[in-house]
Amino acid sequence: MDISAILKNLESCPCGRPHTVNIKAVEIGEGMLARTAEILRDAGFPRKILAVADKNTLAAAAGIVKILENGGFSVKLKLYDNLREPTVERVNEIGGLANDVEGILSVGTGTLNDICRRAALLYDREFAIFATAPSMDGFASGTSPIIENGFKATLPARQPSVIIADTAILAASPAALKSAGFGDIIGKFTALVDWRVAHLTVGEYYCESIADLVREALRKICSMAHRVTAEDAETAGTIMEVLVFTGLAMKLAEASRPASGAEHMISHMIGMRQLADGKISDFHGKKVGVATVTLCELYHKAVVLEPSFAPDRPDWNKIYAAYGESIKENIIRENSPPITDRLAPATLSSQWKEIGKIVREELPTHAELLDIMRSAGAATTYAEIGTDEALARDCIIYHPYMRDKIVLSRVLRMTDIEPMKLVRIV
Ligand SMILES: [Zn+2]
Ligand SMILES: [Zn+2]
Repeated sequence: MDISAILKNLESCPCGRPHTVNIKAVEIGEGMLARTAEILRDAGFPRKILAVADKNTLAAAAGIVKILENGGFSVKLKLYDNLREPTVERVNEIGGLANDVEGILSVGTGTLNDICRRAALLYDREFAIFATAPSMDGFASGTSPIIENGFKATLPARQPSVIIADTAILAASPAALKSAGFGDIIGKFTALVDWRVAHLTVGEYYCESIADLVREALRKICSMAHRVTAEDAETAGTIMEVLVFTGLAMKLAEASRPASGAEHMISHMIGMRQLADGKISDFHGKKVGVATVTLCELYHKAVVLEPSFAPDRPDWNKIYAAYGESIKENIIRENSPPITDRLAPATLSSQWKEIGKIVREELPTHAELLDIMRSAGAATTYAEIGTDEALARDCIIYHPYMRDKIVLSRVLRMTDIEPMKLVRIV
């Protein structure tokens, strides 16, 4: 990926915000595994490193420790059995293990990257990723979703200085992981709607150039949907590039907006509730994809209605109950004061047509979206992500209260539209 070309295009951007990244190298291609040591060396990565992997990711990147050692690195290895949840305990564990190294290399994806990225910031170590599957969009991110006392918060973390991926390894990764990555990318459709709605209604910062780059990435990925599950190095490499790029877009915008909206809230809420029930949640991108299908249906059907507008006066006890007692304090904090206090019903009413235009400009139709996702082998139903009707219903109704953030689903709380009357849960 030519980061310098992207940055050049965004020089003196009309949005007025300087667009910068900390990443020195993104190398996605054939034969990259064998070149890992060389790439890290060229990027000035320190030689004493902690490599963090699980059994699957280490097997996928077979020989990586030897390659690094032969390339002049001293490697301490932390190997997990199977790590599914990014908890604060794991972050501290990695931080402790990193006490006598200078850099952390996460070999894998998802949770492994999330805990390493956070530990690298807290314990001030250099950070790099060797990605083994194109499963989610967090690779280039400067934040990590971390669970503390049952609440998944998005916390500051260190953006990797180097991201490496070997397309043969990506292509050989399980189809379920590639489809999950596709689902995460599809979530950008609704993220862009939510971003523009926040810009329109509360004047939140928005950059058309970055939004355009995300749209271009979406077009590219949708055109290759039917090839996602095939063991095809070129397709897997493109999914990976788009995933890295959308993560990068968050850093460029200094906001999660280009890549994350209400679809991510639904996904996180499902994950938190399942965690509270002692269940292991499904892949992040898989949940995001399903949530995007719901929101696509909801948004399209809502904006053709002519609702009445009023301040949002929810029954907070119902909201706290939907999240669970352990998370109540976080929900109170995110809603003090509620973000909708900044929205006047009359203004919203006058902006309703424009909101409809945004939805139609950004979103494919519900049927088109379902087609694209099915051809990519991505989940489209709650049953496929182990979520029963009651949980899906709670998350669809109450997710907008998770963050101090304007999203269209939150704006709908100021109307007499009832989401559950518009969407089908299957
Ligand atoms: Zn800009
Ligand atoms: Zn995501």
